[in-house]
Amino acid sequence: MSSTYATADAGGPDGGVDPETGIRAALDSLDTGVLLLSPELRVTYANARWTRWVGAPLAPGTPLVQLLEESARERLSLLGATLADGQPRMVQLWLCPVRADAPSRHLTCTARRAATGGLVLEAQLSDDDDRTSLHDVARRLAEVSDMAEVLHTLCEIAALRCRGTAAAVLRTTGHLSEVVAASGDLMPARGRCFELDGSMVQEAFDQNAIVAESNYNDAGRPLQRVVPELALGPVLVAPLHAHGETLGVLAVARAIGAPSFAEPDAERLRMLADHAALAVHKSLLLQQAQSADRAKGRFLATMSHELRTPLTALAGYNELLADQVMGPMTEAQLDVVDRMRSVTMHLSAMIEEILAFTSLEEGREILRPSEFLAEDLVRAAAAVIEPLAIQKGLKLEVVLPRASVRMTSDIDKARQILVNLLGNAVKFTDSGTVTLQLSRSGHSVRADITDTGIGIPADELPRLFRPFAQVDTGLTRRHGGTGLGLYISRRLATMLGGHIEVSSTVGKGSTFSVVLPVTVEAR
Ligand code: ADP
Repeated sequence: MSSTYATADAGGPDGGVDPETGIRAALDSLDTGVLLLSPELRVTYANARWTRWVGAPLAPGTPLVQLLEESARERLSLLGATLADGQPRMVQLWLCPVRADAPSRHLTCTARRAATGGLVLEAQLSDDDDRTSLHDVARRLAEVSDMAEVLHTLCEIAALRCRGTAAAVLRTTGHLSEVVAASGDLMPARGRCFELDGSMVQEAFDQNAIVAESNYNDAGRPLQRVVPELALGPVLVAPLHAHGETLGVLAVARAIGAPSFAEPDAERLRMLADHAALAVHKSLLLQQAQSADRAKGRFLATMSHELRTPLTALAGYNELLADQVMGPMTEAQLDVVDRMRSVTMHLSAMIEEILAFTSLEEGREILRPSEFLAEDLVRAAAAVIEPLAIQKGLKLEVVLPRASVRMTSDIDKARQILVNLLGNAVKFTDSGTVTLQLSRSGHSVRADITDTGIGIPADELPRLFRPFAQVDTGLTRRHGGTGLGLYISRRLATMLGGHIEVSSTVGKGSTFSVVLPVTVEAR
């Protein structure tokens, strides 16, 4: 008897299995997950159930911490305690999925110290499966910010979790409701509007609760009248509330003749609606902000464009007067004409800045690289600003490196940056010097624009490069401007593969440095 047993154990010729294979097969057939861990909490063995939860075979030596969601990592100390005192412990763990689309798992584990050192974890899926997938829902919804995608994902999840075959999100405006997203049999209703009066949406709002219909097609609801081809059996509708606002409803449906939704389905829909409402609210806010931003951009572009034409005409007339083509003028008249010209130029510069801003924001700017000498670029920018410096009685100095620097870049954009920075240096300096120093370092050219002006307080520095952010500051009001120059300059520098640095001391002056690569590739 005992010899027969021994033969089978040893995997003898009579067809017996070797003990290790047998033990593994037995562990794999268990309904529970079994994980063996080394004293360093690294995996030494995982049975089939555990492997399935993780979603991929586990390489021996994988640290347990890698398998856990961040929130579950603090539980590792409990495992450490069992290792130390040998007392078995119950531990709740959240496994993060290997594949992004796989659900995360909530496990209830018993940890025991193994005789050989290390730990044995025996785990079961927690029966609060709903919480597990809600956790997942929140994660999936948080990953998408585009409104349409959020709603689509929501429909998919709702149908799946409530064991329906279709789902939809509906929003309301005034007396109407609109199906803004749909899946399955509710697809034909997408984009359609119907009267709220007599609808399940209205009932869900009025009762502030989930409402059910066991056979939608026979109920004569308003949506059915608008979309007669809809074929729906049981329907559940839950209101979506977030931050005291009713955002719409979430509906799930089953096919005609299918069993009605049960209480657990309604409970799942309620929990899902609570979670989803926040995600919907967030993407609504984002959508509003984006469309306000687009509207602002369009408004600025249209206004600036419309203003540019009459301003060009004004500048032309101004020139005619200044050249005395229309007849001789007195000194006083010429002085007025000159002031008019400087105001017109100032306005034109502001409009050009706004147009440059909108075109950058809309991604209409493209790189046009060409080959040129860096000193030519610097001289061209200085020539634009020199008259302003002279007008203010400032010295404008240009310091060039001994060796020429040949660049391949977008010369117009590079010049625009230098003109902006030099223009600011002159604008914010009442006496002294503005210096533009060019140097080369490795594959970059650097232009330092230093002034002896008012300087910038350290706490203002982080805000400087934000669009319009300066408009309301005392500094800007005193000196005028759109508050766009630095923002545009930085964006242009980034397009050219470079950046802008700034250092400043109040009352002493500032240095703005633009660093550009010698060569930029056309994209
Ligand atoms: P704008 O000059 O049209 O106001 P900018 O974006 O070019 O817009 O500059 C933003 C703000 O940064 C200015 O209003 C000013 O307060 C500050 N600033 C920029 N350059 C200097 C400088 N060289 N010295 C002092 N302050 C500066």
